[in-house]
Amino acid sequence: MTWKTIDEMDLVGKVVLTRVDINVPVDGGKVTDLTRVERIAPTINDIISKGGRPVLLSHFGRPKGKPVASMTLSITLPALKEVLGIPVGFCEDCVGPSAASAVSSLTEGNALLLENTRFHPGEEANDPRFAEELAALGDVYCNDAFSAAHRAHASTEAIAHIMPSCAGRSMQAELEALEKALGNPKRPLVAVIGGAKVSTKLDLLGNLVEKVDYLVIGGGMANTFMAARGEEVGTSLCEHEMTETARSIMDKASRADCEIILPVDVVIAREFSADAAHKVVLSNACPTDAMILDAGPATIAKIATIFEKSKTLVWNGPLGAFEISPFSRATDAAAKQAAALTRAGRLTSVAGGGDTVAALNNSGAAADFTYVSTAGGAFLEWLEGKTLPGVAALEQS
Ligand code: ADP
Ligand code: MG
Repeated sequence: MTWKTIDEMDLVGKVVLTRVDINVPVDGGKVTDLTRVERIAPTINDIISKGGRPVLLSHFGRPKGKPVASMTLSITLPALKEVLGIPVGFCEDCVGPSAASAVSSLTEGNALLLENTRFHPGEEANDPRFAEELAALGDVYCNDAFSAAHRAHASTEAIAHIMPSCAGRSMQAELEALEKALGNPKRPLVAVIGGAKVSTKLDLLGNLVEKVDYLVIGGGMANTFMAARGEEVGTSLCEHEMTETARSIMDKASRADCEIILPVDVVIAREFSADAAHKVVLSNACPTDAMILDAGPATIAKIATIFEKSKTLVWNGPLGAFEISPFSRATDAAAKQAAALTRAGRLTSVAGGGDTVAALNNSGAAADFTYVSTAGGAFLEWLEGKTLPGVAALEQS
């Protein structure tokens, strides 16, 4: 890791342009979930306690390069003040004379929020001139927006090349957790990849079979692999046109000495509803008029033996259609076991993905995982082995 942390920067008296992600959910003019605001609080507190003056930059919604009244970041001000517990000023532009004057009147101990960076076309164009205009406002750049790091935008990428730069606390925590899980992991390393479709996770599967010792495939995408093995999957969610791809992933895995674990038994139902009659059958015994909605108990036991001998786990995608309770059993069981092994100090567990976070919260296991990423797209791109422009720029700066 070659990027700097806040600890390595001299911030006394410095204006710190702090890229955050406060693209928060809003309903009726109010922020409905404070998670993203809470995650940036340590960074802002640490900047202030090191004598710096934090000036916050963020995008909000998709205004497409021009001001859109409903996408003003001022909506987040009450939430910021509440969570940070300090006065937070606001300026209705993120560059130019008004921003410069707001920054110059920012006093120690306070923070300043600048308007939505995406109100300017230069943001998403990663325009170096727009980055210069942003950079002119401060002395140091701090990026605390891991969830925006997969996009090369002026406030996430170009700016880091022209100022002394560092990672904020939540960026740091995310990168350290990911590095521990895939960069230099304790082995055996197991990946659990579930979810709906193989086609959305091809790069992910392709990258992981070269890195992990065990690859547990579950959820709807396991159906495609079972179909590729010639098994009947009935009316299940299955991408029959992807069976050739599934076979080539299995070949790649065996060449790379990665063991793929597919369901040996499954939970089937005639329809996808909470009160549908359901039963467990062997993975090759799904009737033509039934659908596979979860992994069965023998599969759960098999996953448990893999977890028992593993030292590191990365997880994306639920093992079944977890939104409906009879079909959340495999996901719940695996999540609870991973949580217990992590608590016992035997496993490093890192998970991420929109539905994965919901499923782990649902099972009550999330809090015991070593790290749960809420970054969605950026987390997946990192797992896919892609370079994140926002991180790469910090490394080069
Ligand atoms: P994430 O958002 O964590 O990356 P995905 O979006 O890939 O995860 O997958 C989550 C979805 O996959 C859930 O909506 C879940 O219901 C669905 N799913 C999992 N297993 C099955 C299955 N056997 N049949 C149909 N849908 C499934
Ligand atoms: Mg999803």
